[in-house]
Amino acid sequence: MQGMQSRNDDLWYSVEEGRDRSMKREREPIPKTRSTFILVKCPDCGEERILFSNSAKDIGCRGCGRKLAESRGGKSLVLATFVKRLG
Ligand SMILES: [Zn+2]
Repeated sequence: MQGMQSRNDDLWYSVEEGRDRSMKREREPIPKTRSTFILVKCPDCGEERILFSNSAKDIGCRGCGRKLAESRGGKSLVLATFVKRLG
């Protein structure tokens, strides 16, 4: 695992907050036993989108088409800026 600081949440990792986008991205897997909705924001255009943690398919931004979440065997790898957890 690479640098583990700057987590927003224990289950989800975040790409940075929109600033310093050139810096490294934090990634960590999401436990498959939990399914959650989170609100994320597109780092490119700012469009907000609700994601489901166990989505079986990739999720794209409605604004610009950027990939916001990628399916990884039943759980999602979030590629957008984490805003908040919804449930
Ligand atoms: Zn976008």
